[in-house]
Amino acid sequence: MPLVLTALWVVVVVLELAYVMVLGPGPPPLGPLARALQLALAAYQLLNLLGNVGLFLRSDPSIRGVMLAGRSLGQGWAYCYQCQSQVPPRSGHCSACRVCILRRDHHCRLLGRCVGFHNYRPFLCLLLHAAGALLHISVLLSPALSALLQAHSALYTVALLLLPWLMLLTGKVSLAQFTLAFVVDTCVAGALLCGAGLLFHGMLLLRGQTTWEWARGHHSYDLGTCHNLQAALGPRWALVWFWPFLASPLPGDGITFQTPADVGLVTS
Ligand SMILES: [Zn+2]
Ligand SMILES: [Zn+2]
Repeated sequence: MPLVLTALWVVVVVLELAYVMVLGPGPPPLGPLARALQLALAAYQLLNLLGNVGLFLRSDPSIRGVMLAGRSLGQGWAYCYQCQSQVPPRSGHCSACRVCILRRDHHCRLLGRCVGFHNYRPFLCLLLHAAGALLHISVLLSPALSALLQAHSALYTVALLLLPWLMLLTGKVSLAQFTLAFVVDTCVAGALLCGAGLLFHGMLLLRGQTTWEWARGHHSYDLGTCHNLQAALGPRWALVWFWPFLASPLPGDGITFQTPADVGLVTS
C-alpha cells in the first residue's frame, strides 16, 4: 500500500509536468534559449526527484541486518521487546514498519517508510526538489491563470481555485478550466507542504536533532552547525543538494554518535 501511494504521487507529478509542457496551456512565451533552459531545468528536477525517491526507498534505515550483538552497551542503549533486541541510542521502534529504526526521525506516510540515519539525505533533497518542481509548474501555469482572471471575475476564479470539483459538477466550468485549477491547487498546496517540511527539517539539521528529540527538547547530540551538517549529510554537505548520486559517505554508523564533548564543545 505505501509503495502504491508513493508510485501514485510520483506519477501525478510527472503527469503534471507532462500536462503543462505538452498538452496544457503551454509555458509563458519564451525565446528559444530561455525555453531550452527551462526544459533543461525541468529534466534536472525530474532526475533529482526520481533519483532521491529511488535512493530513499532503496536504503534500509532499520536495524535489520545490522550487527548489534556484542556491541559495547552504554548510555542510551535500550531493549526493544517487539524486536527482542538491544537497540542503540537515538533509535526508535516504528509500529508501521514493525522494526526499530536507526536514528529514527519519523514515519513518512507519503513515502510509506521511516526516515532514519541511512535515508535522511534523500528525504531532505526530495523535499527541496519537490518544492522546486511544483513551483516551476506553478510559474509555467501563471499565464493561463492570468488569462482566466482577465476573462472572468475575481470571484469566479477564486471559486474555481477553491472548489474546482463543485464548479465542475454544477457545470459552471469546462473540463480544461477544471484541470487547470486542479493542477494549480495541487502544485501550490504541495509546494507549501514541502517548503514547510524543508524549513522544519533544515532547523533540525542545523541543531543536530531528530523530530523526536526536538519534541522533547533534547540537545544531547548538537555538535555545532558545521559538525551537525557533516554528521547528517557527509563531508560534501554543501554539494549533496545538487545531485542525488554525489558520493558523500556518512561519518558514523547510526549506532554510536559523537557528543558535544567529543568535538571539543563544553556543555553546561
Ligand atoms: Zn523495535
Ligand atoms: Zn516507520
